[in-house]
Amino acid sequence: MLKNCITCGKQTKDYSEFPCPQCNAKIARCKHCRQISLPYTCACGRQGP
Ligand SMILES: [Zn+2]
Ligand SMILES: [Zn+2]
Repeated sequence: MLKNCITCGKQTKDYSEFPCPQCNAKIARCKHCRQISLPYTCACGRQGP
């Protein structure tokens, strides 16, 4: 199943998913963005590495 990467917005099936520490929403990030440690911004405004 494809997910949109929260960081780059691309659809990927090679993602990791984790809950936002602030609002517990599911955050999916692709392998590429994870490898180069790009930050994410959740819908609630929380930013993380
Ligand atoms: Zn990405
Ligand atoms: Zn959040």
